[in-house]
Amino acid sequence: MGKIGFAAKSLCKSALQSSSCPYCGSHATSLMERKHLVLQLRKCEACKLQYRFPKDDAAENYHFYQDAYRESAVTELPAASEVPHHNCQ
Ligand SMILES: [Zn+2]
Repeated sequence: MGKIGFAAKSLCKSALQSSSCPYCGSHATSLMERKHLVLQLRKCEACKLQYRFPKDDAAENYHFYQDAYRESAVTELPAASEVPHHNCQ
């Protein structure tokens, strides 16, 4: 997704989403910083979580980190069968 697509998607999400805390659900949040007009760093006054608004949902995060996110220091998670002594009981 290009920058224009990301900005358009973020604008749509910010119009549809509540800026409530994604962890505790509190609506007592404050704007800490703004970036590129559409992205906000917000802080929850109840649990102190700092988060980006508009928020990504769990499915978006899963697909991004499984499919698109690539960094040289990131390795693939080994399968349970590849981990010795996996049984913790
Ligand atoms: Zn919170």
